[in-house]
Amino acid sequence: MAYIDPHIHMVSRTTDDYRAMQLAGCVAVTEPAFWAGFDRSSPEGFRDYFVQLTEVEPARAARFGIAHHAWVCINPKEAEDPGFARAVMALLPEFLAKPNVLGVGEIGLNRNTKNELAIFEEHLALAQAHDTLVLIHTPHLEDKLKGTRLILDALKRYPKLTPDRVLIDHVEEHTVGAVLDAGYWAGMTLYPDSKLNPPRAVDIVECYGSERLWVNSAGDWGHSDPLSVPKCAAEMRARGHSVEAVSKLLLDNPRAFLEQSGRFVLDVR
Ligand SMILES: [Zn+2]
Repeated sequence: MAYIDPHIHMVSRTTDDYRAMQLAGCVAVTEPAFWAGFDRSSPEGFRDYFVQLTEVEPARAARFGIAHHAWVCINPKEAEDPGFARAVMALLPEFLAKPNVLGVGEIGLNRNTKNELAIFEEHLALAQAHDTLVLIHTPHLEDKLKGTRLILDALKRYPKLTPDRVLIDHVEEHTVGAVLDAGYWAGMTLYPDSKLNPPRAVDIVECYGSERLWVNSAGDWGHSDPLSVPKCAAEMRARGHSVEAVSKLLLDNPRAFLEQSGRFVLDVR
């Protein structure tokens, strides 16, 4: 079954992963800018990373018939030094102008600090000024609920960023309701054996429906599973959900959100 993995860090994955994803039905990925497993020592290190995201990975994905689009920002984990963060942000307009860049992401909070929040809001202002989509990372574990509330409050200060153009990712059972109720899109990130997994994600779909929801693997340099999205499809089918219901969650929903960018190109159906 054709599916999109709308949040995966392919810079950290092997070419064999692309092959396995193709065989599992993956037709498109989108790759947000994030921490790459180490702190970069200069803004120029980020320039190289943004080139990798916008030139190298699309070419690698194309060999397997997978469309690749990117998002750019400085991630919250490396945004604790505002001077450094702003130097990286100065590079962003050049990359936001590229036709395969969908917007600003993944911005958000990591430890919910004041500096992270300041840089998060500066990214929201940038997205508003460039009229782009926004992809937001919420903190994990005990910081998630507080971080999600801080993010929802901050978004209210940028009214031109309408909720239908903003996706808040890594939602769990205790945060998904607040995100959807406020009109935003919500992303469920699937992990192999920590945090949200396919059975829990399907539980959420059964409780909340699948409007404005997507699933992604966020596969990266750490312990993660680039095939967790098709595993979620298998879980849905095993519970008796129709092929159409699975396709809505895994293909139609991410496509509808991403196509709002005017830049997401997908050649299926
Ligand atoms: Zn990520």
